[in-house]
Amino acid sequence: MTTSLPTIITAIQNTINTNADEVAELDRAIGDGDHVVNLQRGLDALSNISEELVVMDWSAAFMKIGMTLMSTMGGASGSLFGTLFISMGKAAKDKALDLASFSSVFSQGVESVKQRGKADIGEKTMLDTLIPVANSLQADAANNVPLTVALDNAKAVAITGMESTKELIATKGRASFLGERAIGHIDAGARTSQLMICAIVDILLSPQ
Ligand code: ADP
Ligand code: MG
Repeated sequence: MTTSLPTIITAIQNTINTNADEVAELDRAIGDGDHVVNLQRGLDALSNISEELVVMDWSAAFMKIGMTLMSTMGGASGSLFGTLFISMGKAAKDKALDLASFSSVFSQGVESVKQRGKADIGEKTMLDTLIPVANSLQADAANNVPLTVALDNAKAVAITGMESTKELIATKGRASFLGERAIGHIDAGARTSQLMICAIVDILLSPQ
């Protein structure tokens, strides 16, 4: 239910704030250093509308989240995270979200991010976190894996995916200008995507 959104938004803000220095350092190393500030601005905007979100269904809430991120964040990540949620909003129309429907809604969102950024797995971006999570959720839904196990699996692949960016050369985004010099640094957007996914899973797995 969207009533959980204020708690989730606060948990995401907490994890991003706790890791802000590290993320800023990652984006300074192979980007321009602004990723965490862009994201914090977007999350503040979400926090300000959280009372509006709770009275919406998932489709409308995802759409509103996407439009808010799109208009407040800036940077490549603002348009990409915005696209993710707007596309999820469209896909969630008239759906009750269980594991099977959420995995397909999330996968459609990730597909739209791929198209918007003309990027795919292995290019040292947020997609190296998002694509493995989408695939894991879909596989677990298809195999009727219990929700708690599917959520644990999503966390594990988010971490592996984020870590995989360290040894990659970037072929998209600002880091692509660095060639081999980007090797040895984790991508900032992959790290924040993983932090957010882990925070959401922790909320969903915690006793209510
Ligand atoms: P900018 O690069 O415009 O300064 P941010 O710093 O907010 O924007 O976001 C950078 C992050 O955006 C990168 O770490 C990467 O994860 C992600 N990114 C950049 N370009 C793309 C792309 N084409 N596809 C997917 N993700 C991308
Ligand atoms: Mg940047």
